[in-house]
Amino acid sequence: MTYDHFFAEALMRLHEERRYRVSAEMERLAGRCPSAIWHSSQGSKPVVMWCSTDYLGMSRHPKVVAAMMVTAINTGVGAGGTRNFAGTNRPLVELECGLADLHGKAAALVFTSGYVSNQSAISTIARLIPDCLILTDAFNHDSLNEGIRQSGAEKQIWHHNDVAHLERLLAAAPNRPKLIVFESLYSMDGDIAPIAVICDLAERYGAMTYCDESHAVGMYGPRGAGVAAREGVMHRIDVIEGTLGKAFGCIGGYIAGTHNLIDAVRSQAPGFIFTSALPPPICAAAIAAIQHLKESEKEREQQQKCVARVKAFLSAAGLPLMATATHIVPVTVDDSAKCRLAGELLLRDYGIYVQPVEFPTMAKGSGRLYITPTSLHTDDMVVALADALVDVWKRLELPLRLQMRAAA
Ligand code: PLP
Repeated sequence: MTYDHFFAEALMRLHEERRYRVSAEMERLAGRCPSAIWHSSQGSKPVVMWCSTDYLGMSRHPKVVAAMMVTAINTGVGAGGTRNFAGTNRPLVELECGLADLHGKAAALVFTSGYVSNQSAISTIARLIPDCLILTDAFNHDSLNEGIRQSGAEKQIWHHNDVAHLERLLAAAPNRPKLIVFESLYSMDGDIAPIAVICDLAERYGAMTYCDESHAVGMYGPRGAGVAAREGVMHRIDVIEGTLGKAFGCIGGYIAGTHNLIDAVRSQAPGFIFTSALPPPICAAAIAAIQHLKESEKEREQQQKCVARVKAFLSAAGLPLMATATHIVPVTVDDSAKCRLAGELLLRDYGIYVQPVEFPTMAKGSGRLYITPTSLHTDDMVVALADALVDVWKRLELPLRLQMRAAA
């Protein structure tokens, strides 16, 4: 029996459905962030990255890099195994204390990624609550959905950010435990959840809340604790989840909550128990990034300034930006083939790396270019981005809003 043809056929289907994923080979340059070297079959060339979630450039911050190097020299690179077998390394204990403090919770638990933290924590939490009904926002990230699926609990999906619909679902299940799962900031539409109203409803109908702050930690609120902190409702959320892989510039994920909840997840979640712990140098780097962003507003301010500048330049140029109240800047392209081509042209001809997103993330036939300004993009880079986008729009005969307005 031969097996390889199964995989060849799967790949063929992906190509036919235009779902085959390609990721450009990038060599990021710590000293010249957000610049990178793009390596392709045509050779290597310098580019500016406009699609990284290293939003505040913390992955190359001198304090973060130094903490990592010193710890690697002192402790070695790997964690030496799972926490069950090899014990919990000291920087990991400090990291969990720092995260609990960031979110004003009694305890925190670190996983190897944000994805794993959602998948493991939700599946475990819901399994520990008999007859739990999960109420989940329609736009929730795959990691949340996977945790819900693995819990085996009944789920109901509420229309995205529609609290009236959420209330109807809560009211229809009066006598059972309920877990509301949502994100504070949705990265695909760049919009924000009505967190205070969700907390009101949770209190009124006796539900628990689980909020994913992956795109918001480090970025918003006092000390970078996230959107819930900015809105003064962090203490009303039962479980806060975050990633160390975006604004904190490292890798790893976590949840923060009560002592009992954290201890129960620690004791029962397979995705925590049966895998090697986060290595000490990564923990030390994350501690340095979190500590720095608790004290410094500079990176958040610079990033917000850059976001405002990008939005102003792109909309003045007539590019079809989606209006967002956050740092996510999606540009819509109502033709998925042209969206993909726009990404290719920007990279090849203008040295600008922006990720085109198509089906299945978007509806079939449409696409978006996701632009993520960082604290390190310069004014000149913003001008170059706007000029390149306008040029590409003209080459692909995509409509600019200015032309649409003039024709109307
Ligand atoms: N949650 C949300 C909302 C995300 O967008 C992502 C990643 O993009 C994750 C969780 C997973 O985080 P990580 O990259 O740390 O696995």
